[in-house]
Amino acid sequence: MELSTLIQIMKDGGIVGAGGAGFPSYAKLDKKADTIILNCAECEPLFNLHRQLLAKFAKEILTALEEVREAIEAERVIIAVKPTYTNAVEAVEYYLPEFKNTTISLLPEIYPAGDEIVTIYETTGRIVKPGKLPISEGVIVFNVETMLNTYFAVAQNKGVTHKYIVVAGEVKNPVMVKAPLGMKYKDVVALAGGETIKNYAYIGGGVMTGNLVSGNDVVTKTSNAILVLPDNHPVVLKRKTRTQISIARAMSACCQCRSCTDLCSRNLLGYPIEPHRFMRAVSKGMDSDTAAVVNSMYCSQCGICELYSCPQDLSPRTLIGVAKAELRKKGIKMPEPVFEGVHIDRDYKKVPMHRLIGRLGLAKYNIGAEFLEEEPAPEEVKIMLSQHIGPPCSPAVKTGDIVNAGDAVATPGDKLGAGIHASIGGQVTSVTDSYVIIKR
Ligand code: SF4
Ligand code: SF4
Repeated sequence: MELSTLIQIMKDGGIVGAGGAGFPSYAKLDKKADTIILNCAECEPLFNLHRQLLAKFAKEILTALEEVREAIEAERVIIAVKPTYTNAVEAVEYYLPEFKNTTISLLPEIYPAGDEIVTIYETTGRIVKPGKLPISEGVIVFNVETMLNTYFAVAQNKGVTHKYIVVAGEVKNPVMVKAPLGMKYKDVVALAGGETIKNYAYIGGGVMTGNLVSGNDVVTKTSNAILVLPDNHPVVLKRKTRTQISIARAMSACCQCRSCTDLCSRNLLGYPIEPHRFMRAVSKGMDSDTAAVVNSMYCSQCGICELYSCPQDLSPRTLIGVAKAELRKKGIKMPEPVFEGVHIDRDYKKVPMHRLIGRLGLAKYNIGAEFLEEEPAPEEVKIMLSQHIGPPCSPAVKTGDIVNAGDAVATPGDKLGAGIHASIGGQVTSVTDSYVIIKR
């Protein structure tokens, strides 16, 4: 298929990165790439979504990757997956003889193997230099569900209408659900038998990188998990702590042990980020070490420093996140990178998944989430118009219109973005600049 045709299909089909910030996937396609990596690292604790999709739809996903490889004339496709995802590995190996440009690369059982900079290093040995994109090293990385969506867009002309979501934690039966876009989170949790405790909180997007969410929030193309945890769980309390309290605690309790820097996933790859110096600057005033503050822009927000490394339970990641936002607001760009090379002791400082899960107090919830075959059918969906990086889409329907499932309800026009489709058939009951509501 011609690259321009594939780009149009992916844009019209509403395909965005299904795991992170929702970058429109067509914008990644570039003939400078020689390597495409399918990222099935899935290292957020309690997630088991991508491995199930890869096991169930291996042929479709490999077919989509081959379609993309041909369109951009890349040399190879690498399936990056952990060896313990045995069903996924076996399914891929079964179909591999049909895809001669595709190989498997087994990732270590570490966190954050799914940070694409880490994934690229572990699978190819290439280092994406600080401040650069993967394409600078000739690599494009795709999420598993993104490629599944690409398959359905190319082979069946279907836009993205649903999102696979894991529901785990304090629920009766952890499940993986194929949820219509716009369905309320609390209704998705009900599919797992509901909450098993009275005082709980929802975390959307994973304990390491996600945030507190509400039951009235709705499924978007970047939703990937709803974790129900006790409202006094350390991960929840960490998310609830006000920034001023985190700053005060940093000033009084940071002992400059360096543990946060020694285990920082980006520092170990040679990025000039040193969270212990940043924390010292928080204590002594940001002007005391401007290099440490500005270099914090290289932080991936992986969360190791505050949820694993710090013996004082401080919050480098959160405070760095606040500082990064401030720096961006002031128009300060990433500094000219000083790349120090991968640390020679990196192998000894990787964070094993089982230790991370244990330290987070999540072992009792780590029991897997079965795929729920039955698709939910909500009476009403609220489809958000901003489900990707870039400006929101513009509505393509008006109140009173009748739509079928799969019809386009919003388009990006010429802007960076991807089309948005009705996840159920029914009548449009409300249209604003932010959302479209459809009643079955
Ligand atoms: S690990 Fe915690 S106490 Fe040690 S330097 Fe980092 S923030 Fe300070
Ligand atoms: S969140 Fe912490 S460990 Fe992760 S990259 Fe940022 S500073 Fe390093």
